[in-house]
Amino acid sequence: MKICVLPGDGIGPEIMAEAVRVLQSLDLKFEMEEAHLGGCAVDATGEPYPEATQRLAQAADAVLLGAVGGPQWDTLPREQRPERGLLGIRKQLGLFANLRPAILYPELANASTLKPEVVAGLDILIVRELTGDIYFGQPRGIEMRDVDGQKQRYGFNTMHYTESEIRRILRVAFEAARKRNKKLCSVDKMNVLETTQLWRDVAIETAPEYPDVELSHMLVDNAAMQLVRNPKQFDVMVTGNMFGDILSDEASMLTGSIGMLPSASLDANNKGLYEPSHGSAPDIAGKGIANPLATILSAAMMLRYTFAQEEAAQRIERAVKKVLAQGYRTGDIFEAGTQKVGTKAMGDAVLAAL
Ligand code: NAD
Repeated sequence: MKICVLPGDGIGPEIMAEAVRVLQSLDLKFEMEEAHLGGCAVDATGEPYPEATQRLAQAADAVLLGAVGGPQWDTLPREQRPERGLLGIRKQLGLFANLRPAILYPELANASTLKPEVVAGLDILIVRELTGDIYFGQPRGIEMRDVDGQKQRYGFNTMHYTESEIRRILRVAFEAARKRNKKLCSVDKMNVLETTQLWRDVAIETAPEYPDVELSHMLVDNAAMQLVRNPKQFDVMVTGNMFGDILSDEASMLTGSIGMLPSASLDANNKGLYEPSHGSAPDIAGKGIANPLATILSAAMMLRYTFAQEEAAQRIERAVKKVLAQGYRTGDIFEAGTQKVGTKAMGDAVLAAL
């Protein structure tokens, strides 16, 4: 089990240290090697995704990433910015499936902007296609065109999917649903967009391979509405790149606690990049107060999806539930009556719970 560890920038090194301690405490043998990605890589080599990091990431079975970016690199040319490193590694590793769970632990129900009874116990997984759709469509651009005798600017992007691209992301989603409550909702806009009619057709054709999973379909506008009306009706949702971009952010915000949410991006062979959903939080970097739980839970996803160590993944998830039940809180999820702890003390609590 070879892991490429990329702490990154800002709070990245602080939260990664805790995730690595958790992994090392397990009864499993990992090979972990650390490298630079993002701003720290720019400082060290001039490149956000340097060659040494590329070699390690390609040779590893999984990549565990903290976060990248920060104001000190925002004035660099676009090609040298830390975020380019992130796009570069996703593209190079062919990570087409983005898995983002939105879980609201009952103890944190007050963190959500929605009523506690709507969100308490929420546990959904959004599966987003990551390398196709309108974001990667050709032709694209803005140009001058003659329209009704008038020259004006014309912007265009093209939505496109092949049936094999649709089928492979659906299979990831069906497999994920199989490991959960066996309900999959496929989200499209088939009443208007032919590309998503194809999406729905392929979903229906793929379903017989997974007779134990119940497949349903929903139009994306309704899905956006249902996510705030009654999010607990969902188990796994699967959708294209653009709809998934929007719905996964909406779903994560239902929980109100960005410091708690992990994510996974997988290739066709379950090699994956695992990272918290939040950024590098430069405002609190170096203070030892960042919440390490999203990174620790990303490590649990890595055990589940890349290494098929379901029991170890669940042990970590149970340990996180336990520390919340014990009342430990970092600043981002603190409320009266609980015990405020820093990054390392939260890691200690998870280790003790394990
Ligand atoms: P952010 O997620 O870093 O921070 C938003 C707010 O949430 C901040 O107030 C921050 O303090 C808080 N926060 C985030 N994670 C936290 C944690 N673990 N514990 C406690 N509080 C936490 O988003 P931003 O401020 O928009 O972006 C900051 C930098 O991060 C930018 O350079 C951006 O480009 C980068 N970024 C990177 C990624 C990534 O690496 N995948 C994702 C998003 C943003």
